Amino acid sequence: MDKRYEHMETAVIHEGYDSKHHLGSLATPIFQTSTFTFETAEQGENRFAGKEDGYIYSRLGNPTVRALEERIAHLEGGEAGLAFSSGMAAVSAVLISLTKANDHILCSPGLYGCTFGFLQMLREKYKISHDFCEMSNEQQIREMIRPETACIYVETPINPTMKMIDLALVARVAKENNIPVVVDNTFATPYLQRPLELGCDIVLHSATKYICGHGDVIAGLVVGKKEFISSMAMTTQKDIGGTISPFDAWLLLRGLKTLHVRMDRHSENAAKIFQELKQHPMIEAIYYPGDIAHPDYHITEKQLKQGGGLISFEIKGSKEDIQRFLNELKLIKIAVSLGDAETLIQHPATMTHSVVPEPARWKMGITNQLVRLSIGLESWQDIWADLDQAISKLTVKKV
Ligand SMILES: *Cc1c(COP(=O)(O)O)cnc(C)c1O
Repeated sequence: MDKRYEHMETAVIHEGYDSKHHLGSLATPIFQTSTFTFETAEQGENRFAGKEDGYIYSRLGNPTVRALEERIAHLEGGEAGLAFSSGMAAVSAVLISLTKANDHILCSPGLYGCTFGFLQMLREKYKISHDFCEMSNEQQIREMIRPETACIYVETPINPTMKMIDLALVARVAKENNIPVVVDNTFATPYLQRPLELGCDIVLHSATKYICGHGDVIAGLVVGKKEFISSMAMTTQKDIGGTISPFDAWLLLRGLKTLHVRMDRHSENAAKIFQELKQHPMIEAIYYPGDIAHPDYHITEKQLKQGGGLISFEIKGSKEDIQRFLNELKLIKIAVSLGDAETLIQHPATMTHSVVPEPARWKMGITNQLVRLSIGLESWQDIWADLDQAISKLTVKKV
């Protein structure tokens, strides 16, 4: 089971599973069991004592889940992986594992809303403070690191401005100070961006998004050093209990098999849609990592294999106009989440970021005109035709 496939296209399909050990079953079996029987009392004792490998109870480990953990660890180029019941279970477990009361976390700006909420909770309940740093140069990061800084937490590319953070640069400064760097790699996936290779220490995912790819699972994944992962498995994972179900792990194993094919197509489709949107007179601003005019394009070029499937843009008009535009869409679904086969669109100001007070929202670049598009796997011509007809409804009314 410790096979390591050099090419990601092969690893997404084979890593972590060998049919030889499972009666030849091509698909990974779903071990839908809560517990595992011991042949003898002594065996039970040895498993609990860690003297013998083997399963005990599914909150502590399950073969279907283990296959997923091995696969994602390999895809991210890390030593070990751990699966969770949601992206937020992964985020919270990592941050709890790395900190103690009175510590400090240095974050990139514009974090995922619930991660932001969890940081507030850590501050209120455990006096674990945090600061936001643009992370655009080494000096700026150095100045914001404190003696009690327990980790640097980075999300890149981020919503909605698609700002890129130079992970190699952040990792360099963190190493000088012996601080681990955690990267939320949800938007890019290991197919497009590999933070551990750039010197970062821990990668996490909302596997709900591109890793699953089919909009039918809520899950999270973490990859890092063996020591960190096993201590997390035996503390935050075991005692807080955000365990993934074997069936959900199986759906993720299935989704992963096409990760490379899907990401290629998401990126290709997004590049086409970007070209169309960019030249549309009703589009006021557009954010897409693959845009050569994006101020962070020099980072994208060295860090992201392709532009990915997300585009944010502003349409000329009022909030009501934007809602009218959304209501006119036929193929494209109005929904939060991202990374699915279906093209999804959402209005951050009234949806994902509605809890953020207005001035703070504007600072994050979230205006009432902004929409976020997760480009699916449909024909890009169909996606564009739908956007175009819905936008045109606004111009007709306006003239
Ligand atoms: C969705 C998301 C999360 C949270 O993941 P869940 O699976 O919804 O718990 C965290 N980070 C990013 C970037 C996300 O998009």
